[in-house]
Amino acid sequence: MILNAFELSRKVAIVTGCNTGLGQGMALGLAQAGCDIVGINVSSPVETARKINALGRRFLDLRADLSSIQGIPALIEKAVDEFGHIDILVNNAGIIRREDAIEFSEKNWDDVMNVNSKTLFFMSQAVAKQFIKQGNGGKIINIASMLSYQGGIRVPSYTASKSAVMGMTRLMANEWAKFNINVNAIAPGYMATNNTEQLRADEDRSKEILDRIPAGRWGVPEDVMGPVVFLASKASDYVNGYTIAVDGGWLAR
Ligand code: NAP
Repeated sequence: MILNAFELSRKVAIVTGCNTGLGQGMALGLAQAGCDIVGINVSSPVETARKINALGRRFLDLRADLSSIQGIPALIEKAVDEFGHIDILVNNAGIIRREDAIEFSEKNWDDVMNVNSKTLFFMSQAVAKQFIKQGNGGKIINIASMLSYQGGIRVPSYTASKSAVMGMTRLMANEWAKFNINVNAIAPGYMATNNTEQLRADEDRSKEILDRIPAGRWGVPEDVMGPVVFLASKASDYVNGYTIAVDGGWLAR
């Protein structure tokens, strides 16, 4: 039956940056669908761990600063040691820096590109190697943005990094579909999390944004639960290289 295709019992999902925000929402959504979760975080994910354990699922707490790719092999090894396999990767960790393009610093460029693009690629590569070794395919879900489609204002490295996420999602899908690996992305619209705290604090910008969202509200972490479960499950086996906007209609406007 079709609803069984969404079921994720006995699957293991790595979610980066799941101590808060959209990452926490997606980790909880995947756990509700049956997954055990490997969280990779800088900050302590106590609340996420507690909520996942309360669902009767296991949570492996791994710590790493994803501005560098150095720790990736050890992270994969620890996940496999604990659970024996990996089935799903959600590349969620991301940062944003706001500064006028005319003044934008090299540090603000490199910091954002490292976490949002470089680590996302090399984490995907490492997990794809593990999927190929396991021989059963797998699911990679990248977190893109409205700025994968649009230019944005005062966020040059964020726009560059998230535009790269949409392109890399297609490239990885093209190369790895033959291994039954599905690579897709979710592009959240304007969501109420730490990432948009500054925007929401600016009354004029906040009103401008809200007025343009057809759904008439900022998104919340629960809004990405359904899409991530779909992309992590058998229900999306023939979806390859696509970026799904979860934006309350922002892009349709
Ligand atoms: P958030 O609350 O700021 O979450 C970002 C997550 O990434 C946090 O868990 C953060 O950890 C983690 N992270 C940042 N740098 C890291 C590093 N060097 N190593 C390991 N983890 C790191 O914001 P969010 O909105 O949930 O963002 C999640 C993803 O959605 C990001 O990729 C973001 O770009 C994307 N997104 C958000 C929106 C939006 O409107 N909110 C829209 C489109 C896309 P700490 O908490 O420890 O810093």
